[in-house]
Amino acid sequence: MTVLYLFDIDGTLLDAHGSGRGAFDAVFAEHHGIANASEGIRYGGKTDPAIVEEIFLARMGRAPTAAEHAAFVEAYLPRLRSQLAAQGVRVLEGVVATLELLARLGHVRLGVATGNIRAGADAKLAAAGLHPWFELGGYGCDSPKRAELVATAIERGRARGEVREVVVVGDTIHDIAAARACGATVCAVATGSDSADKLRDADVVFRTMSELPAWHAARFG
Ligand SMILES: [Mg+2]
Repeated sequence: MTVLYLFDIDGTLLDAHGSGRGAFDAVFAEHHGIANASEGIRYGGKTDPAIVEEIFLARMGRAPTAAEHAAFVEAYLPRLRSQLAAQGVRVLEGVVATLELLARLGHVRLGVATGNIRAGADAKLAAAGLHPWFELGGYGCDSPKRAELVATAIERGRARGEVREVVVVGDTIHDIAAARACGATVCAVATGSDSADKLRDADVVFRTMSELPAWHAARFG
Protein backbone atom coordinates (compact mmCIF):
# COMPACT_ATOMS: atom_id res chain seq x y z
CA MET A 1 0.00 0.00 0.00
CA THR A 2 1.00 3.52 -0.76
CA VAL A 3 2.45 6.34 1.32
CA LEU A 4 1.12 9.73 0.18
CA TYR A 5 3.61 12.57 0.67
CA LEU A 6 2.21 16.12 0.61
CA PHE A 7 4.87 18.82 0.43
CA ASP A 8 4.40 22.46 1.28
CA ILE A 9 6.15 24.70 -1.29
CA ASP A 10 7.55 27.96 0.17
CA GLY A 11 10.31 27.38 2.71
CA THR A 12 10.01 23.60 2.26
CA LEU A 13 10.86 22.91 -1.40
CA LEU A 14 12.07 26.31 -2.50
CA ASP A 15 12.84 29.91 -1.62
CA ALA A 16 11.14 32.27 -4.09
CA HIS A 17 13.08 35.27 -2.74
CA GLY A 18 9.94 37.12 -1.65
CA SER A 19 8.32 36.96 -5.10
CA GLY A 20 4.87 36.29 -3.64
CA ARG A 21 5.09 39.21 -1.22
CA GLY A 22 6.48 41.46 -3.97
CA ALA A 23 3.57 40.54 -6.25
CA PHE A 24 0.96 41.07 -3.51
CA ASP A 25 2.43 44.49 -2.68
CA ALA A 26 2.60 45.52 -6.36
CA VAL A 27 -1.07 44.68 -6.87
CA PHE A 28 -2.13 46.48 -3.73
CA ALA A 29 -0.18 49.59 -4.71
CA GLU A 30 -1.74 49.48 -8.18
CA HIS A 31 -5.33 48.90 -7.04
CA HIS A 32 -5.44 50.86 -3.80
CA GLY A 33 -2.49 53.26 -3.89
CA ILE A 34 -0.85 51.84 -0.77
CA ALA A 35 2.86 50.93 -0.97
CA ASN A 36 4.40 48.00 0.96
CA ALA A 37 0.91 46.97 2.04
CA SER A 38 2.00 43.67 3.56
CA GLU A 39 4.79 45.11 5.69
CA GLY A 40 4.63 43.50 9.13
CA ILE A 41 2.38 40.66 7.93
CA ARG A 42 3.81 37.15 8.22
CA TYR A 43 3.19 34.98 5.15
CA GLY A 44 4.67 31.66 6.34
CA GLY A 45 2.13 28.84 6.37
CA LYS A 46 -0.82 31.06 5.45
CA THR A 47 -3.02 30.67 2.38
CA ASP A 48 -3.13 33.27 -0.38
CA PRO A 49 -6.80 34.14 0.24
CA ALA A 50 -6.12 34.51 3.98
CA ILE A 51 -3.17 36.84 3.22
CA VAL A 52 -5.29 38.98 0.88
CA GLU A 53 -7.91 39.28 3.61
CA GLU A 54 -5.26 40.13 6.23
CA ILE A 55 -3.82 42.90 4.02
CA PHE A 56 -7.29 44.36 3.42
CA LEU A 57 -8.10 44.31 7.13
CA ALA A 58 -4.76 45.91 8.02
CA ARG A 59 -4.76 48.64 5.37
CA MET A 60 -8.43 49.22 4.51
CA GLY A 61 -10.03 48.28 7.83
CA ARG A 62 -12.32 45.78 6.13
CA ALA A 63 -12.37 42.45 4.28
CA PRO A 64 -12.26 42.48 0.47
CA THR A 65 -15.48 42.03 -1.50
CA ALA A 66 -15.70 38.93 -3.70
CA ALA A 67 -15.12 41.13 -6.77
CA GLU A 68 -12.05 42.78 -5.18
CA HIS A 69 -10.69 39.37 -4.25
CA ALA A 70 -11.14 38.04 -7.78
CA ALA A 71 -9.54 41.16 -9.30
CA PHE A 72 -6.64 40.84 -6.87
CA VAL A 73 -5.95 37.23 -7.83
CA GLU A 74 -6.18 37.99 -11.55
CA ALA A 75 -3.67 40.83 -11.24
CA TYR A 76 -1.42 38.81 -8.92
CA LEU A 77 -0.54 35.99 -11.32
CA PRO A 78 1.25 37.99 -14.05
CA ARG A 79 3.02 39.99 -11.32
CA LEU A 80 4.16 36.77 -9.65
CA ARG A 81 5.43 35.32 -12.92
CA SER A 82 7.48 38.43 -13.68
CA GLN A 83 8.86 38.53 -10.11
CA LEU A 84 9.86 34.85 -10.40
CA ALA A 85 11.51 35.51 -13.77
CA ALA A 86 13.39 38.52 -12.41
CA GLN A 87 14.52 37.09 -9.06
CA GLY A 88 14.75 33.40 -9.75
CA VAL A 89 14.00 30.61 -7.32
CA ARG A 90 16.36 28.65 -5.09
CA VAL A 91 15.62 24.95 -4.64
CA LEU A 92 16.38 24.10 -1.02
CA GLU A 93 19.08 21.68 0.10
CA GLY A 94 18.37 18.00 -0.42
CA VAL A 95 15.03 18.54 -2.16
CA VAL A 96 15.88 17.17 -5.61
CA ALA A 97 17.72 14.12 -4.27
CA THR A 98 14.84 13.37 -1.89
CA LEU A 99 12.18 13.65 -4.61
CA GLU A 100 14.28 11.49 -6.94
CA LEU A 101 14.62 8.83 -4.28
CA LEU A 102 10.94 8.83 -3.24
CA ALA A 103 9.74 8.78 -6.86
CA ARG A 104 11.87 5.69 -7.52
CA LEU A 105 10.07 3.77 -4.78
CA GLY A 106 7.02 1.90 -5.96
CA HIS A 107 4.91 2.57 -2.88
CA VAL A 108 5.05 6.39 -2.76
CA ARG A 109 2.77 9.02 -4.32
CA LEU A 110 3.90 12.67 -4.38
CA GLY A 111 1.72 15.76 -4.08
CA VAL A 112 1.78 19.31 -2.77
CA ALA A 113 -0.28 20.91 0.01
CA THR A 114 0.24 24.64 -0.24
CA GLY A 115 -1.46 27.91 0.60
CA ASN A 116 -0.61 29.16 -2.90
CA ILE A 117 -3.46 29.28 -5.36
CA ARG A 118 -3.04 26.55 -7.98
CA ALA A 119 -1.68 28.78 -10.76
CA GLY A 120 0.77 30.43 -8.32
CA ALA A 121 1.94 27.05 -7.05
CA ASP A 122 2.44 25.82 -10.62
CA ALA A 123 4.40 28.98 -11.52
CA LYS A 124 6.73 28.57 -8.51
CA LEU A 125 7.28 24.83 -9.09
CA ALA A 126 7.92 25.41 -12.81
CA ALA A 127 10.40 28.22 -12.05
CA ALA A 128 12.24 25.75 -9.80
CA GLY A 129 12.03 22.87 -12.30
CA LEU A 130 10.17 20.79 -9.69
CA HIS A 131 6.75 20.49 -11.33
CA PRO A 132 7.31 17.05 -12.96
CA TRP A 133 7.54 15.36 -9.56
CA PHE A 134 4.02 16.09 -8.34
CA GLU A 135 0.87 14.39 -9.58
CA LEU A 136 -1.72 16.08 -7.35
CA GLY A 137 -2.24 18.81 -4.79
CA GLY A 138 -4.37 20.85 -2.42
CA TYR A 139 -4.18 24.62 -2.88
CA GLY A 140 -5.16 27.99 -1.42
CA CYS A 141 -7.92 28.17 -4.03
CA ASP A 142 -9.44 24.99 -2.57
CA SER A 143 -9.89 26.65 0.84
CA PRO A 144 -8.53 29.64 2.76
CA LYS A 145 -8.11 27.19 5.70
CA ARG A 146 -4.96 25.12 5.52
CA ALA A 147 -6.47 22.05 7.20
CA GLU A 148 -9.20 21.98 4.55
CA LEU A 149 -6.82 22.19 1.59
CA VAL A 150 -4.71 19.40 3.10
CA ALA A 151 -7.90 17.32 3.44
CA THR A 152 -8.67 18.04 -0.24
CA ALA A 153 -5.19 16.91 -1.28
CA ILE A 154 -5.65 13.69 0.74
CA GLU A 155 -9.01 13.05 -0.97
CA ARG A 156 -7.35 13.51 -4.37
CA GLY A 157 -4.58 11.13 -3.35
CA ARG A 158 -7.03 8.47 -2.16
CA ALA A 159 -9.03 8.83 -5.39
CA ARG A 160 -5.94 7.46 -7.18
CA GLY A 161 -5.75 4.33 -5.07
CA GLU A 162 -5.46 3.07 -1.53
CA VAL A 163 -3.25 5.11 0.83
CA ARG A 164 -1.68 3.50 3.90
CA GLU A 165 -0.30 6.66 5.46
CA VAL A 166 -0.26 10.37 4.68
CA VAL A 167 2.93 12.33 5.44
CA VAL A 168 2.75 16.13 5.35
CA VAL A 169 6.10 17.92 4.99
CA GLY A 170 6.21 21.61 5.87
CA ASP A 171 8.21 24.46 7.39
CA THR A 172 5.72 26.11 9.76
CA ILE A 173 3.54 25.46 12.78
CA HIS A 174 0.54 25.92 10.44
CA ASP A 175 1.62 22.89 8.39
CA ILE A 176 1.83 20.87 11.61
CA ALA A 177 -1.63 21.97 12.83
CA ALA A 178 -3.23 21.23 9.45
CA ALA A 179 -1.61 17.79 9.28
CA ARG A 180 -2.77 16.96 12.80
CA ALA A 181 -6.33 18.03 11.96
CA CYS A 182 -6.25 15.51 9.09
CA GLY A 183 -4.68 12.69 11.12
CA ALA A 184 -1.52 12.80 9.00
CA THR A 185 2.05 12.18 10.05
CA VAL A 186 4.06 15.39 9.87
CA CYS A 187 7.71 16.02 9.07
CA ALA A 188 8.87 19.57 9.74
CA VAL A 189 11.86 21.04 7.98
CA ALA A 190 13.65 24.02 9.54
CA THR A 191 14.49 25.71 6.23
CA GLY A 192 11.68 28.26 6.25
CA SER A 193 10.11 30.81 8.53
CA ASP A 194 9.89 28.79 11.78
CA SER A 195 12.87 27.60 13.83
CA ALA A 196 13.45 23.93 14.69
CA ASP A 197 12.45 24.71 18.29
CA LYS A 198 9.08 26.14 17.20
CA LEU A 199 8.48 23.03 15.09
CA ARG A 200 9.03 20.55 17.92
CA ASP A 201 5.39 19.30 17.86
CA ALA A 202 6.01 17.58 14.52
CA ASP A 203 6.66 13.82 14.47
CA VAL A 204 10.19 14.62 13.33
CA VAL A 205 12.11 17.84 12.62
CA PHE A 206 14.76 17.90 9.89
CA ARG A 207 17.51 20.51 9.65
CA THR A 208 17.22 20.20 5.87
CA MET A 209 15.31 17.91 3.48
CA SER A 210 18.48 15.81 3.09
CA GLU A 211 17.44 14.01 6.29
CA LEU A 212 14.10 12.76 4.95
CA PRO A 213 15.28 9.68 2.98
CA ALA A 214 16.87 8.06 6.06
CA TRP A 215 13.71 8.75 8.09
CA HIS A 216 11.56 7.24 5.33
CA ALA A 217 13.75 4.13 5.15
CA ALA A 218 13.59 3.64 8.93
CA ARG A 219 9.83 4.09 9.06
CA PHE A 220 8.61 2.38 5.91
CA GLY A 221 11.52 0.14 4.91
MG1 LIG B 1 5.87 27.12 3.85
